[in-house]
Amino acid sequence: MPGRILIIDGIATNRISLRVRLCAAFYDVCQAATGAEGLELLGQTQPDIVLLASTLPDMSASQFCQSLRRHPKLGDVALVVLECTEDRARRLEILAAGADDVLARQADPRLLLARLRSLLRSGTSRDDRLLHSQAEASTGFAEPTRRFARASHIAVLSEDVACGLTWIKRLQKERPYRYSLYSPRSLPRDFGRGMVPDVILIASSSQDQGDFGASLLATLGAQPGYRRSRFLIYVPNEAAEPAAQMLDLGAHDVMRGDFDPVEISLRLDQLLRRKARADQMHKRLQDGLHAALIDPLTGLHNRRYAMPELGRLISTAIEGRSSLALMLADLDHFKRINDQYGHAAGDAVLTEIARRLLGAVGSDDLVARIGGEEFMIAIPGLSLQEAQQAAQHLCRIVSETPVTIPGLRQPVPVTVSIGLAMAMPSGQPAAGRQTTPTQPAEDPAELLLTRADQALYGAKNLGRNQVTTLDQPRM
Ligand code: GH3
Ligand code: MG
Ligand code: MG
Repeated sequence: MPGRILIIDGIATNRISLRVRLCAAFYDVCQAATGAEGLELLGQTQPDIVLLASTLPDMSASQFCQSLRRHPKLGDVALVVLECTEDRARRLEILAAGADDVLARQADPRLLLARLRSLLRSGTSRDDRLLHSQAEASTGFAEPTRRFARASHIAVLSEDVACGLTWIKRLQKERPYRYSLYSPRSLPRDFGRGMVPDVILIASSSQDQGDFGASLLATLGAQPGYRRSRFLIYVPNEAAEPAAQMLDLGAHDVMRGDFDPVEISLRLDQLLRRKARADQMHKRLQDGLHAALIDPLTGLHNRRYAMPELGRLISTAIEGRSSLALMLADLDHFKRINDQYGHAAGDAVLTEIARRLLGAVGSDDLVARIGGEEFMIAIPGLSLQEAQQAAQHLCRIVSETPVTIPGLRQPVPVTVSIGLAMAMPSGQPAAGRQTTPTQPAEDPAELLLTRADQALYGAKNLGRNQVTTLDQPRM
């Protein structure tokens, strides 16, 4: 099912003909005969798009738009108003009330279907709403994100520079957005330098049949850098086909007819509102992903990230017939530090040790905090001897300089014990290979970590502040 559409129209024959057309395009259709009934059905039907008649028996289309936009849960449902008579003032009023588009009822059906497809792509569908509310509900996602505060940037692309400048002047009178003008020739050179525009307005001249807009849209829309930009296409041509083509090429909105700065500004407002919401959602998901994989205290990767990453490093080492050194570093008598100086001091020690470990390895190596005071370090390409030296170096950078803690006069001495295990290409000696029972079915990352843990146990038993490999207890 491509999506669910709620038709709200007081005239039964209108509803039926629209329903037939939409069902033929495989939409799931529900209907209401009045604005009040439509508002009531919203929660029950959870539509992706509302298609509204411009005249309703019980309220004006603008009143309906305003009520819809105030809806606590479904306020951002896509809304298209179908009007019988072309009336600029009414169209502007409806757009200002929050409609995504106003289309003529008699317009080419292909235009309506292309408009529905473009709205469904724009991130306001039921599925997107569900994702949004799940993201809000889950821990760590619900923090308020900053509003879309900075001045929005609108890039105007026009073949006719003089015309483009006039258009920008007229738009500036309507809204204080930041506008910049680009010609197609300056495009590859200048475009996208610095900040990526929020909206890219591609304005075709009157002679153009839409080819200019279509080719630019296809080129820019495919560039990853503009994935978050919204595309508004202006075509002087009133015909439906070029507009439908633009919408199917990825335009978020199309304005046809005479260049009307008031209408374009209203469409820009709506695109920017939708973009701000989509950006907020995107950021929440990114923050959530970050929070799921990063330890908030030290900023290192956590165990959830580290274990599959260790698996990937082992596979890469096996494929490249090279080695991987895994070190498990555990702070010595860390409980005493907490007991003696307090938990906050313990946190400061963990943060400082994490910083030292990270600073001591290469950018391709993996450092993660996989337990309270346990760190994992994975370094590819070392021989057993080099790995032992690297681990000893890590021991030294912890023990050599006591940790300075804010509020404590004396720096606190800290040491670490490290268990080392090697994943070696077959034929090379691997520490612990002979002493570990073979468990072919087990996850190679878990297996290697278990061996490093066994080695660590040896280091603790031998007095701490040292490196141990399984088959060489003392080094
Ligand atoms: P050993 O040398 O045998 O490793 O002794 P230990 O004291 O380091 O080990 P033990 O497992 O007995 O204690 C670990 C302590 O680490 C206990 C726990 O309170 C502390 N710890 C774990 N996570 C954190 C944390 O995030 N912050 C602080 N401050 N302490 C933590
Ligand atoms: Mg421990
Ligand atoms: Mg410990």
